[in-house]
Amino acid sequence: MTPAFGATVDSVDASSHSATQAKIIIIGDGFEQDNVNIFEIPGAEPRVVIDIADAKTSLIINGAYEGPQFDSVRGIRGAERNADDIRLVLDLKADSVLSGHNITAQKIEINLSGQFFVQESPVENVSALESLDQINVPTPRLKPTIARRPVIVIDAGHGGHDPGALGASGLKEKKVTLLAAQELKRQLEDTNRYKVVLSRQNDSYVDHDDRLRIARANGADLFISIHADATAGSSARGASVYTLADRAKNRSRNIVNSQNWIMDVNLEEQTDNVGNILVDLAQRNTFSQSTEFADLLIAQLGGSTHLLRNTHRRAGYYVLLAPDVPAVLLEMGFISNPEDERLLKTSAHRQKVMRSVTAAINRYFDIQKS
Ligand SMILES: [Zn+2]
Repeated sequence: MTPAFGATVDSVDASSHSATQAKIIIIGDGFEQDNVNIFEIPGAEPRVVIDIADAKTSLIINGAYEGPQFDSVRGIRGAERNADDIRLVLDLKADSVLSGHNITAQKIEINLSGQFFVQESPVENVSALESLDQINVPTPRLKPTIARRPVIVIDAGHGGHDPGALGASGLKEKKVTLLAAQELKRQLEDTNRYKVVLSRQNDSYVDHDDRLRIARANGADLFISIHADATAGSSARGASVYTLADRAKNRSRNIVNSQNWIMDVNLEEQTDNVGNILVDLAQRNTFSQSTEFADLLIAQLGGSTHLLRNTHRRAGYYVLLAPDVPAVLLEMGFISNPEDERLLKTSAHRQKVMRSVTAAINRYFDIQKS
């Protein structure tokens, strides 16, 4: 059977907009946010690494990049990795930096800022694979592999002085989120499969930082924040599920730095740069697991409640920012809609919705185990 490739790299091009702005353009097909990972390794010999998963190219021959070279970088190298991934490395000029990138289906644009009129000698002709090895970063091992019960942290939104949204007939979001969280905890504990932790047990306010800290301190394998939606009008109704938006990933990295979080990763040697790359890798992994769980959750919720159109949404909610804890935020329905509010008030409906959440969690960990 011939392997199905997701992407192809056909050629590499460059353009310069000014003496200080340049672009390297990777041309091909099948590029997506999900199969392209771009990161920078700063330092005395700055590099930009472009990993393209599930891709093929005729530019790499016998393990070495044979495509065109350009003046705006010291050199371009490349190698095949993991059987069907491609890694391209741009060796940047000493004083240039990655200033951004743009991915479309047919093009990956790498934007560089620096002094491009300076002529420098090209990078020595080292074996592509040999030198690429130097920047092979270990894949972070996020969770110990020893058998233990998965830890689920359930976060009841709002609480205390923060009532959250108010229902058409006065139901407070903070009340219904706590009731739902307690119901979910009961159901999960009944399975005997999980350790369950609530971020709050009563009508108290817990800071957003602390909600994340609780998740990480307990080694959460999954974090579910429970909310109820509201809009100005009363017609919108149905459940939706949020995962972290791509554009919020930088905030996530900043939190790691500002809170001095130690990433649970195996490292023989860790420099700050490698640390950042590991955060990237951890984040990528967490991001895809969150998405996987969101999909399972939506499939289950469809059987127990109305769904808002475009059910899977992305946002930069603070509680979703831990880079190493898969997390979703569930909006159970619109408290501002009289019918949704009426349903959310009844324990029968909350039980039904939380049964869907429990089923999705079971399914998610069944898949993780297999
Ligand atoms: Zn809320």
